[in-house]
Amino acid sequence: MSSMKLRNAAAAAVVALALAATATACGKSGSPDDKGDKGGDSSSAPASSYKVNTAADVKDSPVFEKIKGKTITIGTKADQPGLGYENPGTKKRSGFDVEIARMIAADLGFDEAHIKFKTVPSEARETQIASGGVDLYVGTYTINDERKKQVGFAGPYYIAGQALLVKADSDIKGPDDIKGKKVCSATGSTPLKRIKDPKYGVAEAKAQQGYQLCVQDLVNGSVDAVTTDDAILKGYAAENKGALKVTETTFSKEPYGVGLKKEDTALREAVNKALEAHMQNGDWKKAFDATLGKSGSQAPNPPAIERY
Ligand code: GLU
Repeated sequence: MSSMKLRNAAAAAVVALALAATATACGKSGSPDDKGDKGGDSSSAPASSYKVNTAADVKDSPVFEKIKGKTITIGTKADQPGLGYENPGTKKRSGFDVEIARMIAADLGFDEAHIKFKTVPSEARETQIASGGVDLYVGTYTINDERKKQVGFAGPYYIAGQALLVKADSDIKGPDDIKGKKVCSATGSTPLKRIKDPKYGVAEAKAQQGYQLCVQDLVNGSVDAVTTDDAILKGYAAENKGALKVTETTFSKEPYGVGLKKEDTALREAVNKALEAHMQNGDWKKAFDATLGKSGSQAPNPPAIERY
């Protein structure tokens, strides 16, 4: 595609998004096919079908003790279509992470009306969890030893891998092609840290508050690539079809965990049990197909829970 055509395609995509947002704000949409509902068509997602365990109790969990019979606050992302997305017009949340959060909440005794979703960017996750700003965090959150020093993790519930989002006519095919290039990622993320390794030789590792901002940088030409997990990038590629593409090569393993207070091992085990139950009863696959599956990914087998 010529760069002129590409610019037009990208501009058209941005305009289409803006129109969708405006239509929603005017109250014209909100149907199940609402184009602004980019986390996957939530009417077909099993959001309301998770059976709420009204007798739930988590013995010896300080966090559960505090929220029991009240509201659970779950941190997530709002700008990652297919994973954690908030429709700017309707404020409706959708995506695979949001469904995972709903499944866990149901098993802990919280129905939809008693879940408070809170948007927390990558860089604020550890402080929000440790300070009690959120009770749980479900937002493309890689389990690793460094983070385990500050927070606890249930899971994993999905394994992603770092990839690159580039313009459709780009020659960049993988991490070997980014020498001397400008690459954008999110502050506080594992992909940003990795890309700063001198072995990749990038000209600039640009840090943004979230990946949507990186995608804007890519579309307007101020960076050559966006790097983060393939699952996240596929969502952006799907909404910029023909203009942006995700490279096939992944160059890391990103096992997604549910973040919670480090000391609350009872809650960690309760969340692990909830994840296992919903992986086994088919909810996990249904949720995947209704969200991430829509941007072209086949549902893998759910990963095994790793207790530590
Ligand atoms: N999974 C990676 C991480 O936890 C990248 C995605 C994100 O920033 O949420 O850092």
